[in-house]
Parts: sequence; C-alpha cells; structure tokens
Amino acid sequence: MYEFLTLNDFDFKSKKVLLRVDFNVPLDNKGRVIDDFRIRSALPTINYLIDKGAKIIILTHVGRPRGKIVENLRTNSVANRLRKFLNMDVVKLNECIGKDVRQSISKMEENKIIMLENVRFHPEEKDTNEKVRDKFAKKLASLADLYVNDAFGNCHRNHASMTNITKFLPSCAGLLVQKELKMLKIANKPKRPFVIVSGGAKADKINIIANLVRKADKILLSGALAFIFLKVKGYKCEFKADLEGFEFKEEKIKALLKTKKIILPKDVVLAEKFEEHAKSVIVKTSDIRGGFGLDIGPDTIKYYKKFLKNAKTILWFGPVGVFEWKRFSKGTREVAKFIANSNAITIVGGGDSAAVVAKLNLIDKMTHVSTGGGASLFFLEGKKLPAIEALKECKRRKRRKL
Ligand code: AMP
Repeated sequence: MYEFLTLNDFDFKSKKVLLRVDFNVPLDNKGRVIDDFRIRSALPTINYLIDKGAKIIILTHVGRPRGKIVENLRTNSVANRLRKFLNMDVVKLNECIGKDVRQSISKMEENKIIMLENVRFHPEEKDTNEKVRDKFAKKLASLADLYVNDAFGNCHRNHASMTNITKFLPSCAGLLVQKELKMLKIANKPKRPFVIVSGGAKADKINIIANLVRKADKILLSGALAFIFLKVKGYKCEFKADLEGFEFKEEKIKALLKTKKIILPKDVVLAEKFEEHAKSVIVKTSDIRGGFGLDIGPDTIKYYKKFLKNAKTILWFGPVGVFEWKRFSKGTREVAKFIANSNAITIVGGGDSAAVVAKLNLIDKMTHVSTGGGASLFFLEGKKLPAIEALKECKRRKRRKL
C-alpha cells in the first residue's frame, strides 16, 4: 500500500491525462538529444496509459530557459525521440497553456499523444510565490481530467507543475516514480554487507553520508570528498570541492571518521594543477605534500574492490575522480565496471555517476540507475521530496472526502 495514489487507482479510458515527465536530457548545441535514458525510463507509464485508452498530454521541462523562450530548449527533439520509441505520432504543440492548446486537446482521440512546450518557458512555473504558482498550475490543470507525476528527477522541486497542480486534479504517481522510490528505499533496509561508494565534488554529499552511516557497513570515499576528510586528518592536500550548501564543520567529519566505517584512499593521482593536461604522479596518501588529488591510485582501486567483492548491497553516488579528463578517469571506470559485474544489489544515484554508467553501456548491468540526479541525492539525504509529499496529500484529501 502506497501513501500516494498509483495508476491502478484510476480508470483512464477516454480520460485526458496530464503526464508530467522529466525529459530534461542532455542536448547538443543544436538542441539534439545526446542521451535518452530519461525518455526510455518513462516508456512503461506511457505504454500503460496507451493501453488503457487515455488521451495523453505530456509535459516536461528542458534545461534552464529562465522563464523565456529559448529555441534550442523547445521540446521538439524529445518529442521526436519519443515518436521513434513508440513508433506512433506525437503531436508537438508550441505552448503548454492557452486557447490553442485547449483546442488541440479537445480534438484528441483515445491513445493519442500530445507533447506540450517546455513548461519552464513560463516564469510562473518556478515562481517563489505560491499564489503565482497556483494560478499557473490551475491553467495547466484545466487541460486535463487527471494528473500523473512520473518526473522523478524533478520531485525535489517545489514547482507549479510538480506540487501545486495536485491541488486542482486527481493525482497519482507513475511507474518510474514508484520504481525509483522502491529502489532508493533499499538503502534503508539493505542486505549486508552494505557498501557505499561516494565521490564527486559537492561537499553536501557529506550530509548523505551522515544520514546513511548507521545503515552502511563501509563507506568508500573518493573524489574531492575524500580530500576533505584527509585534510581534517591532517594531510597537506589541496582540493577543489564545491562547498555550496554545505556547512563545513570539522566536528561532523571527525565524528564520521570515529565510526570506523569511512574508508579513505591509500594512494592518489596527484596533479600539479587542476588542469586536464597537468603533470601528475601516483603517490601514497601518507606521502602527499600538496598538489591536487584528481583520482584514486591503483592500490586504492584494488583495496576498494575487496570491499565491493563481499558486498550484498552497493550504493554508488559521485564519480571517483575527474572522469571527464581521460587521464584521471581510470578509478571511476574501474569502479563502475566492477560494480556492474557484482552479484550484489547495485544502485547508482546522482547525475554524474549515472552518466558514467550510461557512457560505459552498463545501465542494464546495474539493479537500478536513478534518473533523478539531484532528486535521488535529496532523497538519500533523508529529506522529503516536495512533489511526493504533494501526491500523498492528494491521497489524504481523497480519503477525507470518502
Ligand atoms: P558531484 O556533482 O558532486 O557528483 O561532482 C561531480 C564532479 O566531481 C565531476 O565533474 C568530477 O570531475 C568532479 N570530481 C571528481 N573527483 C574530483 C576530485 N578529486 N577533485 C575535484 N573534482 C572532482
């Protein structure tokens, strides 16, 4: 039993369904889709709705148009990709609200699909004033009979088409949202040993580590994160971490180190500068005397694999090194491949780790790769996702009325 309504709770036959998806996919400079993982991940819900005879109106955001029309960020290319996947027509409209949109929808038949324009072309979508968002959400809601949220990657956002809209339409979660929550919740009740691999540059991941440390057996640190811990331990290393949103408290890091669950690199690839072609050497962690650590070293790769080999559940978020630069990508590639070949339950969160897994063609070898970069991390940090809370409220409202 879910705390929110699901697709099974509604009869979709001949109903106009506003389906909010997250087709915010990487695009090239001509606006063409580079990676369609998020589009593919929404197909089960779309196919379900087709099967049930719904009239499907798809809504998404793409990129950051900042409330204005940006030609490269129109939803045309994601509509094209969807057409290919479904092998059926997807009518692309150039707006997401208004008279013309309503007119096109009124002519819709069962099993047909309309793709609306990028919802973030309207500044009201992200307005900080709830009343402004409500007004916009009401306009979106007027297009449909039912609302389905399958945009897991945007569930941490309190935006009009994610949260406010549930006040105006009967609302439920799609199959992707259900699956994502189910898989990420495994971190709360893992099969043991439960090993976490964390890296990347954003220091606020330390909040996730603090949230999961009791549940994890070992946390293998890498990326700039590892250097934050090493510095607190007294090593003379420099690092380029993103400290935004993170209140740096040495005490907090010391407390995490005391748990003995935090495992730090034995050796690192140390560069003179934070540059792609900078001179670099492999040094033991204890020999670090300045420089930028941009990847874990070969001994650490072996050492980390030992923990991963015994694990029954593996959660990975954040790249192990600066994987965008080939010379510093070995740790990330090795760890990704090793996790993919493990028999453990393997869950990958965070946008960059998912991108690495996609690039190495390993998505199908993982138990679950989250489509929700920021949303998955938000959830793993133990925070409530506003769009999921809105869906829960919708169910509670329905119960109160009965
Ligand atoms: P995040 O958004 O926190 O997942 O961080 C991803 C970014 O972390 C990627 O762009 C990586 O290049 C970067 N990164 C990984 N390892 C390091 C490191 N040792 N120093 C600085 N940046 C790193």
